[in-house]
Amino acid sequence: METTLITNLTVSDICNGFTYSKLEEKGLFGWGGQLIIQPEYQRHYIYGDGKHDADVIYSLLKGYPLGLLYFVKRCDGKYEVLDGQQRITSFGRYLTGHFSIIDEDKREKQFNALPDDKKDKIRNSPLTIYVCEGTESEIKQWFETINIVGMKLTDQEKRNAIYSGKFVSEAKKIFSNSSNTNMKKWRSYIKGDPKRQEILEEALRWVSMAEKDNKLIDKYMSDHRELGDITELKNNFESVIDWINSTFTDVEPKMKGLEWGRLWRTYHEQGYNPEFLSKRIQELLADTQIEDPSGIWEYVLGGEQDTRLLDVRVFDQRTKALVYQKQTIKAKEGHIGNCPDCVLEAKANKEKIWSLKEMEADHVTAWSNGGATDIDNCQMLCIRHNRLKGNR
Ligand SMILES: [Zn+2]
Repeated sequence: METTLITNLTVSDICNGFTYSKLEEKGLFGWGGQLIIQPEYQRHYIYGDGKHDADVIYSLLKGYPLGLLYFVKRCDGKYEVLDGQQRITSFGRYLTGHFSIIDEDKREKQFNALPDDKKDKIRNSPLTIYVCEGTESEIKQWFETINIVGMKLTDQEKRNAIYSGKFVSEAKKIFSNSSNTNMKKWRSYIKGDPKRQEILEEALRWVSMAEKDNKLIDKYMSDHRELGDITELKNNFESVIDWINSTFTDVEPKMKGLEWGRLWRTYHEQGYNPEFLSKRIQELLADTQIEDPSGIWEYVLGGEQDTRLLDVRVFDQRTKALVYQKQTIKAKEGHIGNCPDCVLEAKANKEKIWSLKEMEADHVTAWSNGGATDIDNCQMLCIRHNRLKGNR
């Protein structure tokens, strides 16, 4: 990778031909048309409240450096802003009369109303720019480094930069557009912010089966970059969403952020009765024995077999110690072992007194049969017998 440091450009050079569009997908240009200030992968301009915009101008007037700007040189000879988009947009907007600052005389002033010396000071402020040219992986690595300074990009913002092209811009039109009428519904199932590319990331995760390995998202984007066809991405996403809608009649807060792509792949070929599922889900959500309700949906999809998904409440240390003590005293009195299951076996452990550490707590009546996690439903078993019992 080649890096060049440019120090002979000023604010005025970059503002030459500056264009600003409020529409989300529109690029912003500068430096006589050769600089793309808002490449498609960049986060949206977020200084809009005016405060940070003004701070950038105050810094220039005080002669403070704006910090490093990073550009990427593209193969067509144009440049894209990698880091510094917001700062550039702030001074560009000020020079083109989009907002005012409070001058020393306490008056609001647009650029044109400033005294000439201040205009010149802003126009002639020198900029420090790093220009980078290189391969995908070099730029990727570079991203990781520059993220130490400036605001952090999300993982998907980085991927959009690395695999930029038609695929990304088409996909963004659907998945990164917060005014998309479906967005509200999607966001009840998916965590994250469309503007930070997190809905797009999830759509890509579903289609590339990347639940366990984010590198599969990179691979998918790399494979589809050239053709720019998003049909599969779109169809897969819609299938998952339609399936969630038709299988689950209620939208619950805990549904947000589940691994819907994986759940769809695993279960969509089975038939379900939505009414029955809804009833069971409501019952399970009301069950105070379940510590983490987010497993409920997979639990019911799987025919309520795997209780491990539910993180059913476990016995606390005090309960275990009390039950152990009671059980052990009784066992010693009767000259038998303290694991009731060992006693039933005609083996050497029949009279064995296990230590507390060698035993585990067990629900006498399993949770799935309505057994509570309280002292009356607790028995201590040796580790082997507890594991044999399995399904608590
Ligand atoms: Zn035992």
